[in-house]
Amino acid sequence: MSTIETLPGTRDILSPEIGYWQRLEAIAREILAKAAYREIRTPIFEQTSLFERGIGEATDVVGKEMYTFKDKGDRSTTLRPEGTAGVVRAFIKNSLYAQGDVQRLWYTGPMFRYERNQAGRQRQFNQIGVEVLGSADPRADVEVLAIASDILKTIGLTNLRLDINSIGNKEDRQNYRQALIDYLTPYKEELDPDSQDRLIRNPLRILDSKNPRTQEIAADAPSILDYLGENSRRHFEKVQQMLTDLGIKYQLNPRLVRGLDYYTYTAFEIISDDLGAQATVCGGGRYDGLVKELGGPDTPAVGWAMGLERLILLLQQLQPAPTNALDFYVVSRGDRAEVQAVLLAQKLRSFGFSVEIDLSGSAFKKQFGRADRSGAVACLIIGDEEAESQSVKLKWMASKEQSAIAQSDLLEKAEELRCQIDSIKNT
Ligand code: ATP
Ligand code: MG
Repeated sequence: MSTIETLPGTRDILSPEIGYWQRLEAIAREILAKAAYREIRTPIFEQTSLFERGIGEATDVVGKEMYTFKDKGDRSTTLRPEGTAGVVRAFIKNSLYAQGDVQRLWYTGPMFRYERNQAGRQRQFNQIGVEVLGSADPRADVEVLAIASDILKTIGLTNLRLDINSIGNKEDRQNYRQALIDYLTPYKEELDPDSQDRLIRNPLRILDSKNPRTQEIAADAPSILDYLGENSRRHFEKVQQMLTDLGIKYQLNPRLVRGLDYYTYTAFEIISDDLGAQATVCGGGRYDGLVKELGGPDTPAVGWAMGLERLILLLQQLQPAPTNALDFYVVSRGDRAEVQAVLLAQKLRSFGFSVEIDLSGSAFKKQFGRADRSGAVACLIIGDEEAESQSVKLKWMASKEQSAIAQSDLLEKAEELRCQIDSIKNT
């Protein structure tokens, strides 16, 4: 029979790569908990209209990349292409705004976009994201940036750039929009087809184009920073001042507009020079217009999303895969010995040890070979003799030292063993 392949743009994540994922998730979880963010889990599929309204129909995500289908009840359904729209929908549906001034939320999970599959770009990919809902204060912008920076630093990525911009509020953008249209119109024929299409509908997004000629033209476009009103300017200055105070380096990038329509004021990206074309590992900003747009009360908000595949690609260039070294490998042979091995393993696990038990029933020699390959710190051996006397042989894999000990004594010495094992693991 023919084997079944994974679909393009999807993949299995196996050991040892999974070690990077688990460590990254654990670090993010801890940092987010310390900053009082609460996890939220929303559905992986939602009504298509949520994304059409929440992301904007003129974006690539909605226009080209969504996995949209009719379910058996004839509902237009879409696999979530990003996390923010679902979180905002949940915020509104569950009246989270009634629970206090500010909601700090985070999520992680798979997102789906029908894109060309390449390194760092998949059709099912994973993000961690945060959303702070209910604060217009520039301190919220800086808080989420500081958290992103903390996570990236703690996992061991330091060679990253932070680009920031302000795209102002609606009014500023209206003024800028006209200036941009005036500048771009004479070049209309030279723009890529998508950008020609956007010239009137959504000219800001032309700055985001990946087409080289369009980028060249956009390089000399007027800067949005010259069109910011008083409020926007003050907000942006405060963000920059606090970033400096926190020692977070950044550079201004007036072409940074983000792909999504609901952003206001601060926009940012964290970029790596070690990833080739798929260089952005984190993107975010303020989106004061979205909650209202989706039918909720007027609520300012700011957040970001990190692409985990790209972070893992970077970590693989820098560090060996983190592993969880096993404490004990249990080898046994003979009916009574095998049952005692199961009981002993279970007890050791309840004391907090990690224990793998050999189920093969094969000769001791073969089981010892597997004990060696398991990476366990110590091996426990139960044969007929040990079963008879309710004892066990304890063998330290590195030194090959071996001693016999009563099974009950082994458990009584759990604390001492823990120390010994940890000190071996740490050398
Ligand atoms: P890009 O310009 O690379 O397409 P984007 O602007 O579409 O990115 P966002 O919607 O801001 O990306 O998503 C945030 C992050 O999620 C990105 O910076 C990236 O790290 C990651 N990401 C987005 N799309 C993909 C994908 N198809 N495969 C892997 N990671 C992705
Ligand atoms: Mg994209």
